[in-house]
Amino acid sequence: MAISRDQARNEHTSSTSHDQFSETIYGVVCSTCHNYILIDKTNCPPSCREHETCRAAYA
Ligand SMILES: [Zn+2]
Ligand SMILES: [Zn+2]
Repeated sequence: MAISRDQARNEHTSSTSHDQFSETIYGVVCSTCHNYILIDKTNCPPSCREHETCRAAYA
C-alpha cells in the first residue's frame, strides 16, 4: 500500500488539479489545500485509515 512522493503528487494533481507542493521533513504537503498528501513515516495514501499516524496526519 506504500506509495512514493511522486505517486502521491500525481494522484493529488489528477484528483484535485492542485499542482503546488511543499516537501517537509515529514512528507509532502499540498500548498493549495494545506493537507498532507504523503507522510514519510508510513508512505500511505491519504485514504489510509488503518494506522493511527495516518488518521492523524490526513485528518
Ligand atoms: Zn490539494
Ligand atoms: Zn497508513
